[in-house]
Amino acid sequence: MKRYRVKPDSKVDLGKIDPGSTKGFKGGKEDAEQLFHPLNQRLLAIQESLWAEHKRKVLVVLQGMDTSGKDGTISHVFQGVNPLGVRALAFKAPSPEELSHDFLWRIHAKVPGAGEMVIFNRSHYEDVLPVRVLELAPPEIWRPRFDQINDFERLLAETGTTVLKFFLHISKDEQKKRLQDRLDDPAKRWKFRTGDLKDRAHWDDYMEAYEDLLQRTSQKHAPWYVVPANKKWFRNLLVATVLVETLESLGIERPEPEEDLKGIEIE
Ligand code: ADP
Repeated sequence: MKRYRVKPDSKVDLGKIDPGSTKGFKGGKEDAEQLFHPLNQRLLAIQESLWAEHKRKVLVVLQGMDTSGKDGTISHVFQGVNPLGVRALAFKAPSPEELSHDFLWRIHAKVPGAGEMVIFNRSHYEDVLPVRVLELAPPEIWRPRFDQINDFERLLAETGTTVLKFFLHISKDEQKKRLQDRLDDPAKRWKFRTGDLKDRAHWDDYMEAYEDLLQRTSQKHAPWYVVPANKKWFRNLLVATVLVETLESLGIERPEPEEDLKGIEIE
């Protein structure tokens, strides 16, 4: 788990991190699937305690190129959780109203409340990704955002939110396969957008923008994990492991009943 965490201020060379890697795990797909079920059960138990305790909050941020598996991670890793306490949401290109505010305005409105677990499919990090790569705003606008993001996430952490951020790292070849698959499979065609090809054409610029944000915004209280994501089973196993281990270490307990229940008999 630790080997995939980005240390604060450390330089990341994505070219040196193999998206097909399964380092740290000895087994293969079948072993991973067997391990996954008990991990999932542990996640359900933690989420129930989080909801029952109604104090702490959990924010999970998923970023990655198109087809990197953000949707798949959400549906797989969070299967079975109680929808009362869990929300997943996707951030699209900002609306005119959103653009008329600061870039964190729409984000802050969606962070988890007490007892909640919220998963962001894309996030405020888009504001230093397409905005930078596609030059939607000049450097004077996006450059200060690294510090602004760090301040914002520190505020969340200091007010009881555990923030975990995952970059789903796929190779350009793997994206080609997955995009082709979307084109070829009628059931998946709805997911295909020609705009994805524009981002693909800027692949190297995106990798550079990711390297920069990983270095500048991985904080002790809001770490980034680079998840090798060419193999879906490994991606799911790693994300689930980080979540479960981190959240279990918080020691969230179900609260004691408010009154003394001794001696109560139900007729
Ligand atoms: P997804 O690819 O996540 O399944 P879409 O195809 O609707 O969903 O893509 C959402 C698009 O919105 C992406 O191209 C993403 O880069 C863009 N987007 C999200 N947030 C921002 C932002 N703050 N500024 C510019 N573009 C953004």
